Amino acid sequence: MRVEYPVLCASGRCRPDEHGGPRETGGRSHVCPVCEDRARENLDALAAAWPDLQKRLTALRSPWGSEPVTGGGSTGIDLDERVSGTAHAAAELVAFYSRLVIAERGHTPPAASPSSLARWLARSQTPWLCAHPDQGVAASYVGDVADAWRDVRAAAYPVGTKTIRLPLRCSKLCPVPHDDGTMPEPDDDGEWPDGTRFVPCPGGMTATIHPDLQYVPDLVCDLNHGHRVPPAEWQRTGWKSAAKNQAATHRLLQTVDTSGVLDRSSVRVDT
Ligand SMILES: [Zn+2]
Ligand SMILES: [Zn+2]
Repeated sequence: MRVEYPVLCASGRCRPDEHGGPRETGGRSHVCPVCEDRARENLDALAAAWPDLQKRLTALRSPWGSEPVTGGGSTGIDLDERVSGTAHAAAELVAFYSRLVIAERGHTPPAASPSSLARWLARSQTPWLCAHPDQGVAASYVGDVADAWRDVRAAAYPVGTKTIRLPLRCSKLCPVPHDDGTMPEPDDDGEWPDGTRFVPCPGGMTATIHPDLQYVPDLVCDLNHGHRVPPAEWQRTGWKSAAKNQAATHRLLQTVDTSGVLDRSSVRVDT
């Protein structure tokens, strides 16, 4: 089937009229390259934020989670529903477009979790979806993923959230890309395909501090948000010596501690 592509981008989110109106598509897609890139970035960002969204949901549901929540007259329960509703809607959305690709294109995602599907759509399926025979599918895809990322970001990182950079290298490994430039992807159990090679990750660690929740953050790599060290692990003496740089780790604990999120009694600092 021959598909007719428009000259101008079919996404309602393209450049507004006062700035020159929709950009040109280039003739092989219903949307312009900028909108296509944004769709990819929005889904990648959504995948990266997914663990933070889950963590926030867990915190909201903990017995003390609803207490420090302030503003907007909302109760913890309302907030819980809003955050879980956002997570549910985003999971439904990536599942919907994934099912469409599986049914119409015959491609199979490496794993079925929402973050894996989002990453797979972003990296492998976005050009195909933007050039879908049905222009409505392409335009909806671009708009839907923009909305989903906006909602997920607001839910995972409420206003006042700050990320601090820690004087600590990432201690995880990164897979080496395949010869064709694509990246190996782990399955839902975190298993890598046979033959995957690894190098030490060059990233540095960060901690994201929420204004309204008193939980200890994961340490997260700035290059790969999947590289996380949960509090149970990074507060353990064993992990600190494993980090190989006692001085840096010591400063790390002080940095996080002065941000006021840690219960001092729960932190064991080696001196
Ligand atoms: Zn556009
Ligand atoms: Zn890393």
